[in-house]
Amino acid sequence: MSRTTKSHRFQTVLALDCHFMPMVEMSRRKALKALATGRAHALDLRTWSKLGLQEVASQPLHAVVFAKVKAVSEAKLGFGRGTASILRRDGHRCQYVGCTRRATTVDHVIPRCQGGPSVWGNLVACCRECNARKGGRTPEQAGMELKAGIRSRRALLMDRFLAMAKAGGTL
Ligand SMILES: [Zn+2]
Repeated sequence: MSRTTKSHRFQTVLALDCHFMPMVEMSRRKALKALATGRAHALDLRTWSKLGLQEVASQPLHAVVFAKVKAVSEAKLGFGRGTASILRRDGHRCQYVGCTRRATTVDHVIPRCQGGPSVWGNLVACCRECNARKGGRTPEQAGMELKAGIRSRRALLMDRFLAMAKAGGTL
């Protein structure tokens, strides 16, 4: 799970909006392209100031700021909210306690029929059996428990951003 063990070469770059809110992770190549075309500028995490293009070349790139972009909605963050992306996020494992089956479906934790939204935080990877057993009930109503708290994509990105900022870009 640790993101800090990756080498800089493969490390992704955090894209921030005009309020420095993390939006998405992007490849270094994409980030450099955004810098080169003037759509974004690199952020020096020690001083919170703008990094010049020459400086970027000589150090790891952690975050770029899209100064003209305002925060996007949760649904558009990260990998999106399609079935494939939820399954990928949860490692294709059923997220209910006691189940070791491979997940092939996506379950609404708070079911749609009870007003549960189709957002990142309310969707988990689930096997067919558990999905059928749970039906239109909440985990509590069905006597089922989720393996781990599902954190929102923005919360995860924010964690990473704060850890980077704390380390002053030395991660
Ligand atoms: Zn299951």
